Amino acid sequence: MERDDLDSRIETLAKLMFKARSLVVFTGAGISTESGLPDFRGPDGLWTRRDKGLPPPPKAKSWHLVDPNPGHYAIVELQKAGKLKFLISQNVDNLHLKSGIRPDLLAELHGNMTRMRCTRCGETYDRASGLRACQCGGPLEPSTVDFGQPLPERDLSLAYEHSRKSDLFLVVGSSLVVTPAADMPAEALRAGAKLVIINAGRTPFDRYAHLRFFEAIGAVLPRAVERLKVLTGLAHS
Ligand SMILES: [Zn+2]
Repeated sequence: MERDDLDSRIETLAKLMFKARSLVVFTGAGISTESGLPDFRGPDGLWTRRDKGLPPPPKAKSWHLVDPNPGHYAIVELQKAGKLKFLISQNVDNLHLKSGIRPDLLAELHGNMTRMRCTRCGETYDRASGLRACQCGGPLEPSTVDFGQPLPERDLSLAYEHSRKSDLFLVVGSSLVVTPAADMPAEALRAGAKLVIINAGRTPFDRYAHLRFFEAIGAVLPRAVERLKVLTGLAHS
């Protein structure tokens, strides 16, 4: 695509965010691959490889050595500008919290690899605490969700609630194929929200998107947020 076209779409995204009263961001593995984390379902993704009986891709960095990238920080800038109503993530890599996202603005649909969860009351604890039982007496288990396991209740219900209330739903780095995660943009659309998708690969929602970016997240989101800050008077052009 032509550069001019990208510039004008970034400008449109900034204006949509400026006008939005309830901006909900939804992230998938694609945002973290730009931090060097492996993708899951792409052609060379972790799960694709696992299904073929292959080990993880050799270039993959260890989780704890991975830092948030400009895409993650652009979402933190939205939070600072008071523009982030809620963030829903399919990622378990802790990079949103590490980047500075407020826990009360975040739903982690598949759990978080650095957290343990009480199987009785749902309270979570830092894995590094070494605790084995919750204050309520319930046993702690890894908070990450395996295939077939139910998703965490609090995160799931908040995600649905905010999707239904959003007027701008921004998908960042997800191919939107795993349910119930993929239900979120459908809920938002049903409620009349505008849908924007930044993802390298096609998604089942492309035809419903008001604005579509196939470019790298780092080439789109930080620029759109900078432009938004100019519009809101938080930065100078
Ligand atoms: Zn408990």
